[in-house]
Amino acid sequence: MKQIIRKARFVTGKPKDIVIENGKFMAIVDEYAGEGEEVSFEEDVYMSSGWIDLHTHAFPGFPPYCAEPDEIGYKTGVTTVVDAGTCGSDQIDSFYRLATKSMTRIFAFLNISSVGLSRMDELSDLSFISAPAIEHALESYPSFIVGLKARMSASVVGTNDIQPLLLAKAVQQQKPLMVHIGSAPPNIDSILNELKQGDIITHCYNGKANNLFREDGKPLLSLQEARERGVALDVGHGTESFSFEVAEQALKEHVHFDTISTDIYERNQRHGPVYDMASTLTKCLALGCSLETVIQAVTEAPARLIGRTDIGTIKVGANADLTLFKLEHGRSYSWIDSHGAVRQTTYRIKPLAVYIGGTYIEL
Ligand SMILES: [Zn+2]
Repeated sequence: MKQIIRKARFVTGKPKDIVIENGKFMAIVDEYAGEGEEVSFEEDVYMSSGWIDLHTHAFPGFPPYCAEPDEIGYKTGVTTVVDAGTCGSDQIDSFYRLATKSMTRIFAFLNISSVGLSRMDELSDLSFISAPAIEHALESYPSFIVGLKARMSASVVGTNDIQPLLLAKAVQQQKPLMVHIGSAPPNIDSILNELKQGDIITHCYNGKANNLFREDGKPLLSLQEARERGVALDVGHGTESFSFEVAEQALKEHVHFDTISTDIYERNQRHGPVYDMASTLTKCLALGCSLETVIQAVTEAPARLIGRTDIGTIKVGANADLTLFKLEHGRSYSWIDSHGAVRQTTYRIKPLAVYIGGTYIEL
């Protein structure tokens, strides 16, 4: 049965009729003349392709970095969660089995450490990085695993400095490598210098020493060079990794994010400062970004980085994933970053419903 959404309102461009059949978009036209089950929504309801959260912890196995995928997924307006290296090769089979049972679409960056986040210093012992195990996992799950993840900060790598990153670069094949940055060592320049086109820096606006900016707020030269090579920047809010002050200064210096992600798991969902994707998107509006920009950073941009043309877009043949949301106005909302700094808005993004593969779910 065809479903016809009449006069869908997008963040840019004029309203269109969207036709869905067999879980895919079948037509996007000014006015669809054919028959089908018709729905329409109130005028102030926006529709975008389904939100994609590029940095989550969607594997329930390893506290504290754990969550049930649907709890951080479709129930919050996110139709696709990408797990950022909760699992290494030891756990990827059980994660894959879990992923097939979830309503939310799930992809994974494979942690280069075979033990994943079963421990917080997963790269402190180089014997945890097994090239054959990584290659085997990549061959076993060519579409589920969309890239590799390496957490390159002092508490994770111990005395190994840049070594885990070099090992990751040697096994990454054609997939992107997502790199978490934080406290030194390793030094940020030595990390950036290893990254190539399509690789992703997450926690790009973190407020720690050893971040992407000099003391005077100007971007590091190594960052500018990395950007010129096509290295992408991901927000990756997280418990400790998003600073309003750093983000505001960065935008002033034209260091713009490519993707907006949450780094969400149970605890920072429930107790903040992350809460959910809608809050993270609203914080980015509070930085002065347009609605079009933030929605693009949670749809088309992440889909492109993980090499998926079947999500993140409303075009014929793509999966019929949509997020319906409102921009609610009226009262004052307070938003907190990872350092306790607060920004106020008089609006917030509020998700109302999703379509996943053509199935409508109200939130
Ligand atoms: Zn994370």
